Amino acid sequence: MKENVFKEYDIRGRWEKEIDEKFVADFVKAFLEYLRNEILYSATDELRLKNKNLKILISRDRELVSKKAYNVLKKELISNGSKVIDFGETAIPLHNFASGKEKTDGAIMVTASHLSEKYTGFKISKNGTEPVRLEELKNKIIKKEFSNRIENEFLTKKRFNKSETDVKNNYLKKYINSLEKKIKIKKKWRVVIDASGGETGIILNKVFKKISKLEVKKICFQKCKHNDNPLEIKNQREIKRTIKKEKLDLGAMFDGDGDRIIFFDERGKFVNPSSILAILIKGMKPKEFIGNTSVGMAAREIANKFIETRTGHVFIKEEMRKRKSEMGGEHSGHIYFKENFYTEDPIFAFLKLLEILEKSGKKMSEFLKEADPYFKSEEKNFRFSEKHFQEVKERIKRSFKAEKISEIDGIKIKEQNWWFNLRESGTENKVRLNVEAKSKEELKKIKKIATAFIQKKS
Ligand SMILES: [Zn+2]
Repeated sequence: MKENVFKEYDIRGRWEKEIDEKFVADFVKAFLEYLRNEILYSATDELRLKNKNLKILISRDRELVSKKAYNVLKKELISNGSKVIDFGETAIPLHNFASGKEKTDGAIMVTASHLSEKYTGFKISKNGTEPVRLEELKNKIIKKEFSNRIENEFLTKKRFNKSETDVKNNYLKKYINSLEKKIKIKKKWRVVIDASGGETGIILNKVFKKISKLEVKKICFQKCKHNDNPLEIKNQREIKRTIKKEKLDLGAMFDGDGDRIIFFDERGKFVNPSSILAILIKGMKPKEFIGNTSVGMAAREIANKFIETRTGHVFIKEEMRKRKSEMGGEHSGHIYFKENFYTEDPIFAFLKLLEILEKSGKKMSEFLKEADPYFKSEEKNFRFSEKHFQEVKERIKRSFKAEKISEIDGIKIKEQNWWFNLRESGTENKVRLNVEAKSKEELKKIKKIATAFIQKKS
């Protein structure tokens, strides 16, 4: 087994190479034992819980390898005595909504996000939607520190008895009803949406039936030619073209597993995800906002209170849960809400954005200029070894005053009118650079300086 399948906050690897049937079997045993220990640890009535079948909700993305891994996962969960709620192909927000409402003991989404089609993986949570740090499970799996004994009583007990489609459709209805209550849109918006071929398209079709005033052009609602990553420029061509050709109000693009969203304005221009956060904060006025290091200056200035965390959904979700914050977001297009049990809800974010624009009476680009006037670089990636990154960090530290430096996430230098951040990706062997400045000239200058730090060989 290769240890590198254990990322900080999920498991990812090539199917049948790093992740195979044997791995899934070990993972299931370790996960169930981990959950059982967690429950026993916090339980007042030990005996009652000892006999409890763990309730696990499972979903997967559209990829063929995910389907294969999913089938093995399901078989293993059942044969190890869990009550499985089998959602099949599902977008992450619905998976989370149902896990939260159902108060599952554990939930597993089979996906490798936007990695290539050879990859699969597991995003896992406990107590509904609470993320699990992989560190806690890794050793159990690698060293096989779990009991192989399946307690017979688990197997004879009645398992989850409703069919999967019943349960899933029921939650989909509840989810859509909850959206309907929270959103008020009157204008007949003309928009285009690219669902990247995931289940988001199916959910959106049902959402739009309820919120019927929209005119929606649809891209990739079923089959999709482009890959899952909305941030790849080549994947954005069709949506940009459609906005311009049809003179639409705006466009939105989801990723394949439905937990990220990015936007395009009425000119077909890509909108920086940080600016979207600024718009949402301006319109929704949360008491506090939890964001990662690369969230821009405007969002920080508009927020009543801005709390910075490391990049990665686990860190933001943990912080939100701890503080009971209403809202959080990342520069990558992940937007989190307390109401979806402290997880992503990009469909809600999309509708809310329309509502906010409608109230303002402005076009998307006009509102943007007002909410976020600052200049941002596109995220730049560099292939790096850990050692090299350490050297770069040391070099940067020698060049700036200590009070300008933050090391919450990689290294960040913050001045009055600009900042830059270099941080390691949690999922790939890359270091990412983000820069923001109050003027175009400063942006150019800082980008040059930051890049020089990276490229200089010491
Ligand atoms: Zn995703």
